[in-house]
Amino acid sequence: MKTDVDVVVVGGGPVGSTALALLGQAGLTAIAFEKDAEMWPTARAVHFDGETMRTLQGLGIASEFERVTIPMKDVAIINEDDEILVHASTDAIGGQAWHDHISFHQPDVEKLIRSRLEHIPGVELRSGENVTRVENVDGGVVVTTQSSDGTTDSTRARWAIAADGARSSVRSSLGIESDKFGEDEQWLVVDGQLVDSPGCDADMVQFGRYSRPALWLRLPGSRVRMEFMLMPDDDLDEIVTPEAVERISRGVLPVGNFFPDRQAIYTFRGRIAREWRRENIFLAGDAAHQAPPLFGQGLCAGIRDVQNLVWKLATVLRGDAGDDLLDTYESERKPHATFWVKTASEQAVMIQTTSPEVAAGRDAFMKAHPEASAAPAAPALGPGLHAGDRDERAGTLGPQPFLSDGVRLDDMVGPHFLVATTREIFDGLSPAARSALEGDGDVVTLTDPAKVGQILKGLGVSAVVLRPDHYILGAADEVAELESLLGLIPSLAHQQAK
Ligand SMILES: Cc1cc2nc3c(=O)[nH]c(=O)nc-3n(C[C@H](O)[C@H](O)[C@H](O)COP(=O)(O)OP(=O)(O)OC[C@H]3O[C@@H](n4cnc5c(N)ncnc54)[C@H](O)[C@@H]3O)c2cc1C
Repeated sequence: MKTDVDVVVVGGGPVGSTALALLGQAGLTAIAFEKDAEMWPTARAVHFDGETMRTLQGLGIASEFERVTIPMKDVAIINEDDEILVHASTDAIGGQAWHDHISFHQPDVEKLIRSRLEHIPGVELRSGENVTRVENVDGGVVVTTQSSDGTTDSTRARWAIAADGARSSVRSSLGIESDKFGEDEQWLVVDGQLVDSPGCDADMVQFGRYSRPALWLRLPGSRVRMEFMLMPDDDLDEIVTPEAVERISRGVLPVGNFFPDRQAIYTFRGRIAREWRRENIFLAGDAAHQAPPLFGQGLCAGIRDVQNLVWKLATVLRGDAGDDLLDTYESERKPHATFWVKTASEQAVMIQTTSPEVAAGRDAFMKAHPEASAAPAAPALGPGLHAGDRDERAGTLGPQPFLSDGVRLDDMVGPHFLVATTREIFDGLSPAARSALEGDGDVVTLTDPAKVGQILKGLGVSAVVLRPDHYILGAADEVAELESLLGLIPSLAHQQAK
């Protein structure tokens, strides 16, 4: 099919805009259609992890973004009687070369991504254009749009990414069902400025109060966020008044000191779409998964989706891999996203219980085992393009050290594969493998002992291959193991096959 662009993105929310920027940087042409004329002005996400910061770093906006964030240094869990069950604190830069947890105001990051888009050739965000239909046609997609004046148009592309949010009309039109995790819960979300009033001591507090579970977050400047579970006898008109917010926050947000930007009632859901790919249409972000916000992973997961998908689309477009590489998007990302949705739903049962008896048991357990309430370690990807069947490090997120010259690793590697190996193993590779590595524009090879040492430190191996999305393709201690990993890198495998 003759195409207008390589990819159409449906939705210009944070996931769609990130997808568009990554596509442009990877050299693909793309259009994102966003139905709203203006960017959504209020925040939902307030927390990012270090991995998400790496994606923003790749887009060249992490340092600017960091200036409007604060690290989430102190976290606490408090019970009905205001006893501190758990209190953890750290100010260290984590293994991703950024703070592991930061707080921010969502419109700040969306504005930065959108302004970055203006400088990336080949991509365009078209606001005020509603996508009314997306169809798989002749090995590509046809996307029909309608603008506010009623004019309709159609765009032909090789692929479509549906980043059209939790109520995704693309997902519905494809008849894709979702699996449900945990119970749907209604929460009041309150954002605003807290002035001349102390707020809570910690940056993030989970109030495990059975009378009304709640959450507190300190955001940059005087901005704060509180979330309150709605209880069955709440009056929905009264609960949003300043006096009610002061009461249910137990005085943390006093009338006269707290100036709300907005109060909104959200239904928190755990959902995973059963299929993430239908021919040339891919679901991403909330269209593919919705997480209860316990670990602040919903948007992080959406950004991970497009970071995983885009380099694969670029690889297939260049002809370095067949279409089956694109099947690994769902096989890798779906189990990973499911882990977060399932774990958040399960932990919500304990932390956000409304039963005094369950809360008493939980309190006793947490006091005895405070370490058990730490956020879980991120899981590995599901099966896909990595050596996870023979090495448990493969498919996990790779490290980003500061290198000996003070540069963050990704700034040196860019959106490419990285082969970091001791000189000894490199010298043992066959001449053909060495010259293939040296001549491949999609692979950066690093043998400088100081830099390689910083990357391998903690992995306990002699060589590692990282993918463009920063996940570990595989690790090696012997020449033959590294040669076999090189055979998994699409551009090298393609060269070999020629
Ligand atoms: C209260 C709350 C707190 C949260 N906290 C966190 C957190 O701390 N950290 C975190 O990582 N996540 C958090 N999340 C989740 C996070 O907000 C979402 O995962 C994220 O916003 C999803 O982004 P998205 O781009 O996939 O979808 P959306 O932001 O919903 O964007 C979808 C876009 O598609 C557009 N669109 C829809 N249909 C069409 C169409 N037919 N044509 C054209 N455009 C269309 C919409 O207008 C919208 O702009 C939170 C969520 C809530 C509700």
